[in-house]
Amino acid sequence: MTQRTDVVVIGGGQSGLAAGYHLRRLGIEHVILDAAAAPGGAWQHAWESLRLFSPAQYSSLPGRLMPVQPGETYPDAAHVVSYLADYEKRYELPVRREVWVEAVHRDGAHLRVETDCGDWQARAVISATGTWTRPFLPAVPGSRDFTGRQLHTVQYRSPAAFTGQRVIVVGGGNSGAQIAADLARADVHLTWATQRLPRYLADDIDGRALFDHATARRRALDDGRTDTGGVASLGDIVAVPPVRAARDAGRLTAEPMFARLTATGVEWSDGSQTEADVVIWCTGFRPALAHFASLRLRGTRGHITTLGTRAVDEPRLHLLGYGDWTGPASATLIGVGRPAREAAREIAELLRA
Ligand code: FAD
Repeated sequence: MTQRTDVVVIGGGQSGLAAGYHLRRLGIEHVILDAAAAPGGAWQHAWESLRLFSPAQYSSLPGRLMPVQPGETYPDAAHVVSYLADYEKRYELPVRREVWVEAVHRDGAHLRVETDCGDWQARAVISATGTWTRPFLPAVPGSRDFTGRQLHTVQYRSPAAFTGQRVIVVGGGNSGAQIAADLARADVHLTWATQRLPRYLADDIDGRALFDHATARRRALDDGRTDTGGVASLGDIVAVPPVRAARDAGRLTAEPMFARLTATGVEWSDGSQTEADVVIWCTGFRPALAHFASLRLRGTRGHITTLGTRAVDEPRLHLLGYGDWTGPASATLIGVGRPAREAAREIAELLRA
């Protein structure tokens, strides 16, 4: 049986909830379909030592400040999960769980959202599926020869699983730096490999400054001024306290990326080799957009071309929270509110037309 509503939001993490908040404020009937069994989006799967880049009050969705976590300036992931669970309850957001969206099809004046629990017909769709379910692994020579374990960031929990082992962490972004710092304080023989020298942001820059930068960029874009560049122009790694401590103690030294994997480890560009039991790829994510394959929307690098959050080739579709290409800082707690509001407003206009 096909169910009907005005808007289907796909994904019930922070972006889907921010969309629900603004749709509700505008009185737009909607449903939020989420594959996960519990609230919290990707934060449910974060490693144990992960801390936010920003204090709680700078990590809030629209309408409700994140409460301070007692004893912590930078909240942990469990705190974010309980904030998001509380948020959806407080605003009575219509989240349906353990519903996997398989595909979205054009169906005359509607979009048909096909799920593993039946179909939905809607006049507009907001996709907020994040990136966590699409870990990216680069093609590196020899990766099939390596007989040790290969993991991605999404599978890492804590150093306990690696006690006494030779671990190579790959990646010079925040995940790589934080996981390397985590392992560096344990009984682990760590090698950290990065494509270029690690670029730390100044120690006094945290998520607050990043958000201010993104806000200034958004204003510049709104006013038609020169693009100041995304937050990546400031550096790659936020020096959160555990990263700073490991770096300052000299335990975070990066090696230039190895040339290839061997059966027992890696080979560097000078031909020398390092043995390893485990390689952890902290090499990022791609947007989880497979459910749009049948719409055949144009884009580059796995993205869909957007104007703001709206898909250029399908104006009934909005994309939310995937990164700067769906709104400056839209892949952050504090940054997703504004693009969510704009998406809801545009959809309200579409429904009125
Ligand atoms: P997600 O949280 O991934 O939620 C997507 C939801 O959609 C999930 O529940 C998933 O189950 C569901 N879903 C996916 N596909 C489907 C489907 N086909 N059908 C139905 N449901 C589906 N941001 C900050 O603001 N501050 C920080 O300090 C910070 N630190 C970060 C550290 C790391 C290591 C990472 C990876 C990110 C960090 N972020 C931070 C960025 C950002 O806040 C997260 O990536 C955030 O989880 C994105 O939220 P989302 O709702 O867009 O996606």
